[in-house]
Amino acid sequence: MSEIDLRSDTVTKPTDEMRDEMATAPVGDDVYAEDPTINRLQEMAAEVLGFEAGLFVPSGTMGNQVAIWSHTEAGEEVILEGDSHIYIYELATMSAFSGVMPRTIKTDNGVLPVEEVKNAIHPDKYYLPRTGLIALENTHNNQGGRVYPPEEIRELLEFADSVGVPVHLDGARVFNAAVALDQPVEELVDGFDSVMFCLSKGLGAPVGSVLVGSESFIEKALVGRKRFGGGMRQAGIIAAAGVYALENNVDRLAEDHANARRLAGALQGMGFSITPEPTETNIFFANTEEIGVNANDLAVELERSGIVIGPRDGENIRFVTHLDVDGSDIDKTVEAIEDYLASSS
Ligand SMILES: *Cc1c(COP(=O)(O)O)cnc(C)c1O
Repeated sequence: MSEIDLRSDTVTKPTDEMRDEMATAPVGDDVYAEDPTINRLQEMAAEVLGFEAGLFVPSGTMGNQVAIWSHTEAGEEVILEGDSHIYIYELATMSAFSGVMPRTIKTDNGVLPVEEVKNAIHPDKYYLPRTGLIALENTHNNQGGRVYPPEEIRELLEFADSVGVPVHLDGARVFNAAVALDQPVEELVDGFDSVMFCLSKGLGAPVGSVLVGSESFIEKALVGRKRFGGGMRQAGIIAAAGVYALENNVDRLAEDHANARRLAGALQGMGFSITPEPTETNIFFANTEEIGVNANDLAVELERSGIVIGPRDGENIRFVTHLDVDGSDIDKTVEAIEDYLASSS
């Protein structure tokens, strides 16, 4: 019996077709810029997002951190949301490697209010820290895959431009945002100084992310990537999966969103409370407090039927749909949870 893994969209395994592309990919030494498949992926990514150049990196974390290193000088501040991936899950690397200080703004929806960003930028005095960068996240992981409203992005980018501060997008799941809004991704990322997106999440590749920006930014980021230990050799083997993912796995993200919505709806019907409500992309949180069920116990029980879920604590579970979960897997999950609730009441 194959497992239904709803913990994350990072758990997807490459399909036979993707593996074929990987096995037959032309390769070369990428530190000499001689890997044709990596070059192709980088050009493709830049083109799809509407930027001059791209850089293949082994992970989203490296993409974000190389971007921060490239945009900032040691001693500057980076303004970002208080629950953002860069702040919470990247081990304070901006401080450790780039010598910059996070300046967080706590929100309840992942969207930075422009007024608060304005207030977080110090007056231009030699004795106050300078703001080197603003970073946004779209979709917002810790907010349950929320889409950053495009008009809020526009307003923030206009403000940032007016004060000359660059803006980076942690777009690990920016294709989910584009598909949810039914808008070309190019439009959503227009005006950012750099964007990182992950191939290894909903797009289904086993490894890799791409950082895009201007030619001069990517020239600097190339130095940063090497310094961070991300200079790779015949990595066209893995970049081929990224090319395949961009060609085949973008539009189908809509299925993941529909599956998440259906699962969230069913859980809501059973008394779970769901955030965000309505579900916006492929991620949501289910809270068990009102139905008096321990999320860890539920997880242990579901595992017996081959369903893996990710409780964050006794009351909160994060559900994530992806290309290894289909409609019948959603049915099975709903049934198994119904059975558990019936037997435990
Ligand atoms: C997954 C993710 C990243 C990067 O994660 P890696 O595991 O380093 O590839 C960055 N930002 C967000 C919002 C993410 O969800």
